[in-house]
Amino acid sequence: MTPRTSPAGRIDLHTHSTASDGTLSPAELVRAAADAGLDVVAITDHDSTAGWAPALDALPTGLRLVRGAELSCRWFGAEPAVPLHLLAYLFDPDAPELVAELTRVRAAREERGERIVNLLRADGIDVSWPEILAGAAGGTVGRPHIALALIRAGLVTSTSEAFGPDWLGERYRLPKEDIDVFRAVRLVRSAGGVPVFAHPRATRRGRVVPDELIAELAAVGLAGLEADHEDHSPAERAHVRGLAAELGLLVTGSSDFHGTHKTVRLGAFTTDPEAYERIVAEAGGVTEVASG
Ligand code: AMP
Ligand code: FE
Ligand code: FE
Ligand code: ZN
Repeated sequence: MTPRTSPAGRIDLHTHSTASDGTLSPAELVRAAADAGLDVVAITDHDSTAGWAPALDALPTGLRLVRGAELSCRWFGAEPAVPLHLLAYLFDPDAPELVAELTRVRAAREERGERIVNLLRADGIDVSWPEILAGAAGGTVGRPHIALALIRAGLVTSTSEAFGPDWLGERYRLPKEDIDVFRAVRLVRSAGGVPVFAHPRATRRGRVVPDELIAELAAVGLAGLEADHEDHSPAERAHVRGLAAELGLLVTGSSDFHGTHKTVRLGAFTTDPEAYERIVAEAGGVTEVASG
């Protein structure tokens, strides 16, 4: 590991690889990040750290890698409970309680995926669970993998159509067994990680949580809010920035790149160096890594 130098410029703190529902392998992801002119990239696969080692091994010279994950969480303060995503940076990947939660969530995702496929098959839709599971190639399974099967079967033409109300967005949507968000914040902090609420106001993705919950999470260790994200309208971005300022939270911006599962490009949104420095300063699980 080389010593840290000056704060980096172009920083994208939220991307996915084939370790979850992205389409580039971790090695391809870091190469693509360098090609896109990024100085810092975070690998944040859903509920998994499996991409960390291969991303690190392939890290191009001059690129810094922030090892992270996007945890599937739920807030049980509303009925029904609201699903949400918590980005976690630079945590110890061997922290036993956190590892146990991630393992449990990944297993539950497989059960849920198979149940979704059974619902589809019961309606005469010819998709195969073994084929979908094989398509995930050992990575965390998600609805995008099922979406691909629907595309292959000629039932929809795009991932976004597969997430429409007639398909995985509503009719064939089943809940996941997520982590209680308060527990997740505590587990990430006790593993030396830095928790940041992903796309907290993305009303176009579904229900969002009230600002009061975000204040409560800030009180138990939430570090920041992702403001600049393609699923936030300009008004939603401004609201998130205001709330972060009020609560003393840092603000990030990121692409949430998923390869060809989405249209967004690496570096489409970025994080200010000051916020990134704060994340690095607060972290104690693993270090951010620079190559070369
Ligand atoms: P899951 O984690 O199985 O609940 O699936 C959610 C994932 O599907 C998200 O992480 C996104 O990668 C993807 N996704 C959600 N909504 C859409 C959409 N409208 N179009 C394309 N991908 C989506
Ligand atoms: Fe995803
Ligand atoms: Fe997310
Ligand atoms: Zn994401």
